[in-house]
Amino acid sequence: MSEIAENLSEIYKNIEAAAKKSGRSADDIMLLGVTKTVDCERIQQLVDLGVKELGENRVQELMSKIDVIKGDVNWHLIGSLQTNKVKYIIGKVKLIHSVDSLKLASEISKRSLASGLVTDILLELNVAEEESKHGFKAEELSDTIEKLKEFKGIGVKGLMTVAPYVENPENNRPVFKKMRELFIDIKAKNCDNIDMTYLSMGMTNDYVVAIEEGADIVRIGTGIFGKRNYA
Ligand SMILES: *Cc1c(COP(=O)(O)O)cnc(C)c1O
Repeated sequence: MSEIAENLSEIYKNIEAAAKKSGRSADDIMLLGVTKTVDCERIQQLVDLGVKELGENRVQELMSKIDVIKGDVNWHLIGSLQTNKVKYIIGKVKLIHSVDSLKLASEISKRSLASGLVTDILLELNVAEEESKHGFKAEELSDTIEKLKEFKGIGVKGLMTVAPYVENPENNRPVFKKMRELFIDIKAKNCDNIDMTYLSMGMTNDYVVAIEEGADIVRIGTGIFGKRNYA
């Protein structure tokens, strides 16, 4: 078995166990393979092993891979997105996880409508209120949702967070719990064009805890491909 296949089978086992703990099955959890800095050959190995949901955090890198990777793949943008890059990805990505401002939401909506499309997005939250992180604060969420109703070119499909880096993933459990509470609160409001389907949280270090607390998309890079080499 290749290293990627071995890593993947370990991850699937963990996903299944964590899903069970939260009263769900592995089928309820979407594994997003995070392919940033990974070359196309290794990405293709992952796709050929059956992982069809792929996440990139830079537009340029995403665009350079999108036509190279073969198979029935859905691309997700998970990293911070500048408004001037939005035009490149409309119609190419299944879900934008990292919408962190009304300005960005408005641009995505405008560009989507111009192409006759509705683009699905998640709202990125910074519930731990880390200086270095993007995202809305929890207390901004209600107002934000209210304003998003005007943007007909986006479909809000849920919430996303990048939890703090912690040695012990248990330390992020309160962050994931808080996300889940916000998700349920918004869902209960039954707003137009807001459809709380996905809770995207959990990375290599903490996806097990995230799933136990209700994540239904986990974004895993290092756990699949090994450590990244940053230039
Ligand atoms: C890189 C990245 C991930 C994956 O991180 P790993 O720790 O390698 O699993 C997940 N989400 C976002 C937004 C990322 O940028």
